[in-house]
Amino acid sequence: MLSRGEYLKELGIDVWVERATHSLDTHTQLDDESGLDWAELADRVASCTRCSLHSGRQQTVFGVGNQQAQLMVIGEAPGAEEDKQGEPFVGRAGQLLNSMLRAVGFERGEVFIANILKCRPPQNRDPKPEEVIACGNFLERQIELIAPSAILAVGRIAAQNLLKVDTPIGKMRGKTYQFSGSQHGKEIPEIVTYHPAYLLRSPNEKRKVWQDLQAVKRVLEPDQ
Ligand code: SF4
Repeated sequence: MLSRGEYLKELGIDVWVERATHSLDTHTQLDDESGLDWAELADRVASCTRCSLHSGRQQTVFGVGNQQAQLMVIGEAPGAEEDKQGEPFVGRAGQLLNSMLRAVGFERGEVFIANILKCRPPQNRDPKPEEVIACGNFLERQIELIAPSAILAVGRIAAQNLLKVDTPIGKMRGKTYQFSGSQHGKEIPEIVTYHPAYLLRSPNEKRKVWQDLQAVKRVLEPDQ
């Protein structure tokens, strides 16, 4: 008995078979960031069109701060002001983050601040999984190059994507995780806390953030 394809062929009808596409995987393999130095990585991010977010951005937001930082702060994605200024965590949330950092003895310029995504999602919607995958190598290489002693994940999106879980952030707080996002890199202690933008709306949660920051301090200064 003829298959449907053979039958159509017998009738002289071309059969079009949809080709399996794995463009994201292929692209990620082709654009391996693992050997790039800091300047090459920054250049690659600045010209990236790997996901659709490139079309709506004013500029990429690579990250800012000390390339030898002890502490790396990782948030979600640029908002409108970050997209305009090219720097993560600016505006009121950024000022609150600066205060949070000072509480553990860091000035903003002493840490490195980056986001899961380097381009702004429209209307500040949550990042899509394919965007997180497409952008993931950039952050991974940043973490490898900086090799911080601790990571502070601020907000649900950062915490869930770094640790690859769906746990609500309220349940993730209060523990120290081991981040091992890179195949080549070492495990790095990671603390989860609320995003400063959330704190601006819910100031009662500041006490919990203070506890999280104390946990960061204990990781960085275990003998104190
Ligand atoms: Fe490239 Fe990341 Fe921007 Fe997407 S979000 S275009 S992957 S830099």
